[in-house]
Amino acid sequence: KTKTSKLEKEKNVQVFVRVRPMNQSEKSSIKSYPVVTCNGNKEVIVKEKPFEKLTKTFTFDKVFGPESKQIEVYKSIVHPLINEVLAGYNCTVFAYGQTGTGKTFTMEGEKSMDPSISWEDDPLSGIIPRSLSHLFDELRLLQAEYTVRVSFLELYNEEIFDLLSPTDDASKLKLFEDTTRKGSVIIQGLEEVTVNNKQDVYKIIRSHTVFSITVHIKENSIEGEELLKTGKLNLVDLAGSENISRSGAVDKRAREAGNINQSLLTLGRCITSLVEHCPHVPYRESKLTRLLQESLGGRTKTSIIATISPALSSLEETLSTLDYAHRAK
Ligand code: ADP
Ligand code: MG
Repeated sequence: KTKTSKLEKEKNVQVFVRVRPMNQSEKSSIKSYPVVTCNGNKEVIVKEKPFEKLTKTFTFDKVFGPESKQIEVYKSIVHPLINEVLAGYNCTVFAYGQTGTGKTFTMEGEKSMDPSISWEDDPLSGIIPRSLSHLFDELRLLQAEYTVRVSFLELYNEEIFDLLSPTDDASKLKLFEDTTRKGSVIIQGLEEVTVNNKQDVYKIIRSHTVFSITVHIKENSIEGEELLKTGKLNLVDLAGSENISRSGAVDKRAREAGNINQSLLTLGRCITSLVEHCPHVPYRESKLTRLLQESLGGRTKTSIIATISPALSSLEETLSTLDYAHRAK
């Protein structure tokens, strides 16, 4: 794998890193000072041993430091993909990383405390709302008929769940003040899952979610011919990459961990095969890659955002995330 051979071929896979800020518990723990620094906008330097000068440097297409804003991340990573989608190509953006490092913050975003800020102006809005808003702005400028469809699904234990299922009809939901607790509201009709212990909570967050936007555009050529274009943008919030087999998971959790590892490993292998232009890409080895097969490879563009914590307490997972992401380059 030499530099020149990579440059000759079109670069369809890009790898980014986003470092989240230190959180309150990391800041207040003496055992958890920052061990990650960004150098320029392409390098991440990780201090490997607490009291030694040993460091490891990783280079990526772009690195976003703890101060980076949602809009910067959108502009650099997703903005250029919208033109590809409008031209009829498929693009996929993955958020990969340990739980709690900002995958969902990056993909979905959050809502500012100020209720007067709409989601369109909210600086905390993530990639999904920004992509939709940007797409519609561009479509409105086109002299063409178009339709936009979205789907949102969850992959848990190799099973697919529809997060936009019509049976969870949102219009049926009702809000009530909870008279037993001041300031609290009850949403009637909202599906709630009972969680009995930590493991149950873990289970809920250890799934992959795929938000897909499909755009159909009907244009008329100068010769009066009808041109149909279909482009797709997949925005994937992957399950936490932490190796839970290390924590001694058994039975159901071990199987679940196995499935997560399997799909993350297969995804990594598929991306490496694509980067290296291998004739065989092992799409069929996990449901996630089967699902995304038409959007990985060929003329499609794939971006990976590896999210990491800057703190010493996450050092091991940070190194493993950076290794995984780097292998995809
Ligand atoms: P993940 O989805 O990877 O488990 P989250 O997106 O839920 O992680 O983020 C964990 C916490 O860290 C959340 O409270 C979120 O607000 C915060 N956070 C993550 N990334 C950032 C960031 N870049 N800037 C500010 N806060 C962040
Ligand atoms: Mg999340």
